[in-house]
Order: sequence, then C-alpha cells, then structure tokens
Amino acid sequence: MALSFIDFFQKGRTFRPKKKFEPGTLKYSLHKHAQASLNSGINLRHAVQLPPGEDLNDWVAVHVVDFFNRINLIYGTVCDYCVEETCPTMCGGPKFEYLWADGHRYKKPTPLPAPHYISLLMDWVEMQINNEYLFPVKVDTPFPKNFLPMCKKILTRLFRVFVHVYIHHFDRLVAIGAEAHVNTCYKHFYYFVIECDLVSPKELEPLREMTARICKDVSVYDKHHQPSSPVTRLAAVR
Ligand SMILES: [Zn+2]
Repeated sequence: MALSFIDFFQKGRTFRPKKKFEPGTLKYSLHKHAQASLNSGINLRHAVQLPPGEDLNDWVAVHVVDFFNRINLIYGTVCDYCVEETCPTMCGGPKFEYLWADGHRYKKPTPLPAPHYISLLMDWVEMQINNEYLFPVKVDTPFPKNFLPMCKKILTRLFRVFVHVYIHHFDRLVAIGAEAHVNTCYKHFYYFVIECDLVSPKELEPLREMTARICKDVSVYDKHHQPSSPVTRLAAVR
C-alpha cells in the first residue's frame, strides 16, 4: 500500500536531509517564532510580516531554509513518479519551460528532463544555504551584500518546483491526501515572497490562476501583473 503523506512526515522521509538551525542562535529563535506564529493559527498573511525590531536578512534566511526543507519534503512525495519518461522537460504546463544554467557545468541555459533539473536545482539551493559566508551561522557575522539578491534567486528557483509539482503531479498529491498541506505551504511561500518582494510577478505567472483560487486575493500581485507572451522560456540564470 502506498505511504500516506503523514507517513512521510513521521518517517522523516525526504528527498534530502533536513537542514536545521542550531539551538541558541538568533536564527533558531526566529525560526521558532515563525513556527509558533503558524501553529497558533494566525493569518498567514500576517505571519510573514517582519516582527518589529528584527533584521530582514535574518527573517529571510530562516524562511529560505524552512521553505527548502518543506519543498524538499513535498517533492519527495512525488519523486518516484517524476522520471524522464513522464517528465521529459522541466515545464509548467504548455506555456512555460525552464532551462537550467549554473555557470559551471551548464554554462548556457539548457533544456533538461524535470527530475534532472530539480535534482540540480535542489543540490544548488542546498549548497547555497550550507555556505556559511552567504548564510552566516554566528550572530556576529554580518550577511554579505549579495545576500538578498541570492535569496531572490533561491526562492525563484524553489518556486519552479511548486510549479512542476502542482501542474504535473497534482493527482499524486491528492492520492496521498497531501493537497491541503501543500496548499498551506504554497500560500505561506506566496505571501512571504510577496510581502518581502522576493519573486518577480513574471515568475509567479505559471500558477497565477491557482494562486487566485487558493489565496482568494492576489491584489498585491495584480498590481504588478503584465500579460505574458504565448510561450515563455524562463532561464535559470539571468
Ligand atoms: Zn515530474
């Protein structure tokens, strides 16, 4: 019998090991603050707002790591069904295709099968959040100047995993009863990137209709919205 989504949680089965914050650090307490706000049933739109007196970089850092862990878990529930045969391209429906480039192995934006693209993407994100220069672990170490631009890139790429999972593997989410959980995680992600202006409206376009349905209000997003061309190829590196 197939494992349910709860089983995945209980067994801690994830695509990659979970990144944790060290107890006693500022990021650990902010992480706990963010978790407590969510658990108290507070409105997600309010939960994403920077708490008074806190540093934006710290707030973004804890969210990036949390979203990486959660999206990792979500993809882990569909990855057995996401293979080259079923997903020969990394697309989000017929209108959007993502091309991978990392400046090293893939210098030019390259079309790849979705599982290969997502594997490279998650490896890349994991490498960034484990880079102690970019995500300092000690309280007295400042964030580098490129911290927020890098977080924008990380979140923009993580969003593409939502796009692929929702558009191509939604039936699997429903089959294991994960739909509500994934929707909540998506809403949290969406409100956060809108609140802190971290992902461009053009990148959010593939899930626009679904976002309008589950968030019921995309007025913030609509303010920036511009219609896209019939086929958009979004390269991983600009
Ligand atoms: Zn797939």
